[in-house]
Order: sequence, then structure tokens, then C-alpha cells
Amino acid sequence: MNWAKKIDQRMPFALKLAGAFIAIIMIGIIVVYILLQGTMVATFQDYSNQTSIIHAQGMAPFFAYYFEQNGNWQEVEKLLTAMNSAHGPLGEHLVLADATGEVLGPYDSQYFGQVLAPTLLNRGAPIMLGGRRVGTLFAALGVSTPPLLEISFLNAIQRSILLAGVAAAGIALIIGFLIIRQMTRPLRQLSSATREITAGKWEHQVEIHSKDVIGQLGKDFNTMAQKLHRSEALRQRMIADIAHELRTPLTVLQGNLQGLREGVFEPEPKFFSSLHDECVLLSRLVNDLRDLSLAEAGELYLNSQLQSIEPLIDRALKHLHPLFEQQRISLCREIEVELPPLFVDSDRVVQILINLLSNALRYTPAGGKITIRAECMSQSVQVSILDTGLGIRKEDLSNVFERFWRADSSRDRKSGGSGLGLAIIKNLIEAHGGAIWVNSEEGIGTCFTFSLPIKGS
Ligand code: ADP
Repeated sequence: MNWAKKIDQRMPFALKLAGAFIAIIMIGIIVVYILLQGTMVATFQDYSNQTSIIHAQGMAPFFAYYFEQNGNWQEVEKLLTAMNSAHGPLGEHLVLADATGEVLGPYDSQYFGQVLAPTLLNRGAPIMLGGRRVGTLFAALGVSTPPLLEISFLNAIQRSILLAGVAAAGIALIIGFLIIRQMTRPLRQLSSATREITAGKWEHQVEIHSKDVIGQLGKDFNTMAQKLHRSEALRQRMIADIAHELRTPLTVLQGNLQGLREGVFEPEPKFFSSLHDECVLLSRLVNDLRDLSLAEAGELYLNSQLQSIEPLIDRALKHLHPLFEQQRISLCREIEVELPPLFVDSDRVVQILINLLSNALRYTPAGGKITIRAECMSQSVQVSILDTGLGIRKEDLSNVFERFWRADSSRDRKSGGSGLGLAIIKNLIEAHGGAIWVNSEEGIGTCFTFSLPIKGS
């Protein structure tokens, strides 16, 4: 169907719709015309048969009287000719059959001399005399073509149907045109909005007037544009943030190396160790960024296995044990017995726990307490890390999972925080099908809780 494809490609959308409209109208008119034509002719035939019988019934008493007077039908032809010459209202043609059903007249009738079958006799009016059927009278028996009056009546009706069809088509086309204009307007708006957004005008939105599928399309388009706008802004901010984060250690490295080259600094071991620290910071930042971008793109590979959470908590605690001692922070372990196993990547879960515990250690002053709690909920295992540290300001709580967000950027950078840790954790937990949230009160402490689904729940 090459031509159909070509029409589809070249024809404007409004024209296609209009074409479909016209086709439907035309089909409608033709169908109505054919149906009406059929039923009308049949109904009219029926009607004229009925009128014929009624007419014959009206005439029957004359013939009964004739029979009564003459005692037989011998001279009836004269009466028939006289009556037939003065046509009935629809041009009826009277035919008479005797008591046996034999057609007696008129002579020119096609049935003359024939004995009519009972079914045919039923279509006539019986001529009764003294309770005895002496004959049957027919009007229009054997007249198959409708008389002139009927033809002109049928023609008039057909003309009116055609005229009504044409008028309906005209009205339908005008209404169709208005509907098509109304329908294609939001589509044209959408198309121009798409061009605006492609040209970088992100704030462009389409106006929504209807609640139908096109209105929904407009709504979805606006949401999509907003999301694109947001992710574009996020992308730009992320690039700026990364550049900013990289600049500081690079400046330190560059300055120090320059001082070394120009002989301003002595090449002491202490000096090299500070350079090394900056390099470690840089490489950690790059690793974090890699993790985050993989997690956000949903491409993080999880080596998940059925695993109990308790040994993972122990692994993380063992890793941080020296820090607890160093900072004189007490540890409280509240792990429910017989927790159900989870389908998780154990290294990633340990990474999450180490990250949350390190944060708690970092923001809790000496003498404080960190509690790690694990409990079984209906469909998940919940792990909470509570500290008695600085806490997070209420207005900052919604930001903690944002990339590069730090409550106090200068302090945290020195202590090694890039502001990426919680963003990575959130992505890792969500990749496991879980969730993380935080409660905190300034000066009292913070509680990070994450849940991991129990397999099969
Ligand atoms: P960072 O690598 O800087 O720790 P995170 O994403 O882990 O980055 O944390 C972001 C910020 O959230 C931190 O800079 C800190 O301000 C705040 N924060 C995280 N954990 C705690 C906590 N336990 N107590 C107080 N503040 C916290």
C-alpha cells in the first residue's frame, strides 16, 4: 500500500480528520438511503394491499346485493367494467371470484377463468349473503407495479431523504470543521512548545483547557518539561559542584608542589604526607562520584545473596572499633535475635553501615553514645543508627540526602566529607528495594533508619 503511505505522509492531520468525517457522513447517508428505500417500498406495498382489501370490503355489499337480485353471477362482467372504469382512490382494479374460487371477471384480468388458491382467496373480501359465501372480491389483484400516485409519493420521499442527507452532511461538515479546529489546537500548541523546549526555553508550558486525553497529554508534557528542566539544572549544578570539590585539593597540591620546586618548602616527610592526604581525598571523591553516577543511572551491579544482617553489622563495627575507642564513644548494640535473612549485596550493606556509623562518629563529641538497632518489621528489616551528637537543623533535614550537601562545608571538607556519602547510600538502599529516612533534633542527636525488604514479602 504505497499510495496509502504517501497520503499518510503528505496529508495534513486536519485534512485527514476531515476526510474521515466526510467518509463517515457519506457512508451514513448511503446506508440510511438504502435501508429506507427497502422498508419504504415494502411498507407502502403493505399499505396499498391493506387499502385494496378495505376498498374491496367496501364494495362487497354491492356485489352481494347484485347476487341477491340475480341469483347468479352471469351478467356480473358489466358491473365490474362499470366499477373499474370509475377507479378507486388509488386506482384499484376489481376482480371477482365465485364461491368455488374461479375468477369470473373482468375478461382482461390475468386470472380470468383460473381457480384461485385459498391463500390468494384470503387476500380478498368475502361476499356474504345470508351467512353463505357467494364469492370473493379483490381490488388490485395481480397489479404488481404501484400505480402512478404511489410512484410519485415514493419519489417525493426519496428526494426528501436525499435532501435531508445533503443538509445533514453540510451541517456535519461545519460542526466537524469546528471540532477539528478545536481538537488540533492543543496539538499545535504542544508542537510549538516542544520546539521552544528544544531551543532551551525550559520554562515553556502548554495551557490546559480540557480534562480529556488531550488535556492529559498536555499535563504529562508539562510534567516532562519540568522534570527535564530540573534534571538539566541538577546536571549543571553537579558539574559546578564537582569542579568546586576538585579545585580545592588540586590548588593545595599545586601550591605545595610549586613551593617545593621553588625551594620555598623543605622536602620533609611531614610535607609529603600532607600531599598524600590530598591525593587520597581526590581519589575518594572520584570513586564516590563513580559510585553515585552508576547508582543514579541504575547500572550499579549488585552481587546479592541470601544473607543475615547481623554478621554484616559486626563487620562494619569491627572496622570502626578503633575509632570508638579513640573518640571515647560508647557503643550500644540492640540486634533482635533471629532476624530473617535478606537478599542483599553484603559488601554494599557493609559500605552503607560504615558510612552511617562514620557520620555518627564524626558528629558525636567525646563521651557520647551511638546505638545500632536492628528489628524485624512486617515486610522488612529496619536498621537504625542513633547518636547523641550535634543533630541536624530542622530546615536542613530535607537536604541531607542531596549530593554535595553539607551542613558546614568548610569543617566537613577538612574532616574528609564530600557531601556525597548519604546520596550514595540512598541510591544503594533504593537499588535493594529499601528506603532510608532521618530524624534529628539539634543538640540531642540524630537517628538514620533504613529498611531492606524481606525476600518474598
Ligand atoms: P559527608 O561525606 O560530608 O559526611 P554525607 O552525605 O554523609 O556527606 O552527609 C551530608 C551532611 O549531613 C554532613 O555534611 C552533615 O552535615 C550531615 N550529617 C550526616 N550525618 C550526620 C549525623 N549523624 N549527625 C549530624 N549531621 C550529620
